[in-house]
Amino acid sequence: MPAEKLAFPGRNYLYAPGPTHIPVAVQNAMVVPMEDHRAPDFPELVKPLLRDLKKIFKTRNGQTFIFPATGTAGWEVALSNTLSPGDKVLIARFGQFSHLWADLAQRIGLDVQLVQVPWGEGVPLEQFGRILRADKKHEIKAVLACHNETATGVTSDIAGLRRVMNRAKHPAMLMVDGVSSIASIDFRMDEWKVDVAVSGSQKGFMLPAGMALLAFSRRALAAAKTAQCKRCFLDISDHIATNKDGFFPYTPSVPMLRGLRASIDLLLEEGLENVFKRHYRLAEGVRRAVVDGWRLDLCAAAPKWRSDTVTAIKTPRNVNAAEVIHIAYHRYNVSLGAGLSEVAGKVFRIGHLGDNNEVRMMAALGGVEMAMRDAGMKVKPGSGLAKAIEYYCDTAPGKKIAAFGSVKAPREAQVKRKSKARKNTRKRK
Ligand SMILES: *Cc1c(COP(=O)(O)O)cnc(C)c1O
Repeated sequence: MPAEKLAFPGRNYLYAPGPTHIPVAVQNAMVVPMEDHRAPDFPELVKPLLRDLKKIFKTRNGQTFIFPATGTAGWEVALSNTLSPGDKVLIARFGQFSHLWADLAQRIGLDVQLVQVPWGEGVPLEQFGRILRADKKHEIKAVLACHNETATGVTSDIAGLRRVMNRAKHPAMLMVDGVSSIASIDFRMDEWKVDVAVSGSQKGFMLPAGMALLAFSRRALAAAKTAQCKRCFLDISDHIATNKDGFFPYTPSVPMLRGLRASIDLLLEEGLENVFKRHYRLAEGVRRAVVDGWRLDLCAAAPKWRSDTVTAIKTPRNVNAAEVIHIAYHRYNVSLGAGLSEVAGKVFRIGHLGDNNEVRMMAALGGVEMAMRDAGMKVKPGSGLAKAIEYYCDTAPGKKIAAFGSVKAPREAQVKRKSKARKNTRKRK
């Protein structure tokens, strides 16, 4: 770490699209003395947690799982518990995460039918439809889809993918990587008939990395009974056997479970639909800054692909995006997402998922403007900020609140105050 970093005043502004900023309530919930994970009252924590996790995945029929691991292990839990070596799976590669999932599938012995898609686009529905219709013998056992490709800021249409599978009358299981979508972008496990959904703790759940969160449909649970892929630590059957009594097959990270409790409480208190709306609004402000203010291109190739959790921004050809990231970090203490693999040096990313509000986005945009200027880009200072300010102010949900000084007490409060006054007069008599 360079010397300049050591004496940095103020806190680091974290805009990686994972890990994300941790809310104070979640952070505090994790600062607990160590607890006995076999204590008789431990199920009082675990059972409601597994149940409420279902609300986040929007499943009534499915079963949720918590593994002490990361999203990558979640991919492996999904595949190894439901498939057998040599089984064919269909997946499109359009970014680093869809690439890694396909790679993992191959490495654990599955037969991967890989569809190459330009980075900046998402799951190619029509092409998948053609492939599935042509698979008359139903050799494809599972369709894998990365709901939100974090590397390129692209969201795919999972409801549309389900329709395509139905239209092709194809019985393959549908498995979805929702690591950077679940708890921030609309996701409906039951409605979309998703068989396995994978998430992780350090994105929309606003926790440190270290938990893979999953949900299995009834059908996927049944497939687990005959799936032949080798598994031990990642076997859901050991979880099923112990979770039913509120325990885990091995030592869970109890502080993380306490944090997850606080995180789910925050999400449900705000309301999932409000969480999604907030993510859209914050993302839209960032996009206006990028497109209308800075006149830069998004990595997402068309508006329909634009992600509400992360925005990947292309730098002009003569500017190395890594330099913008480097300056932002070392000079301004702002952490941005890097361009990965095929888009390395070409894009930088602003993560806007999790515990964010308008002003935190303004800090991100301000930091990026400064870093871009220092990197020699011709960006008018304040140009992006101005577009974001206009958008955030014009669409603020609290707009109808009366100006300070002219707020009338709501009727209820007036009535209460009157009856209190009446009581007081009675007393005085
Ligand atoms: C972060 C991420 C992962 C990988 O999660 P790890 O916790 O780093 O293993 C997988 N898929 C997507 C879409 C992600 O954003």
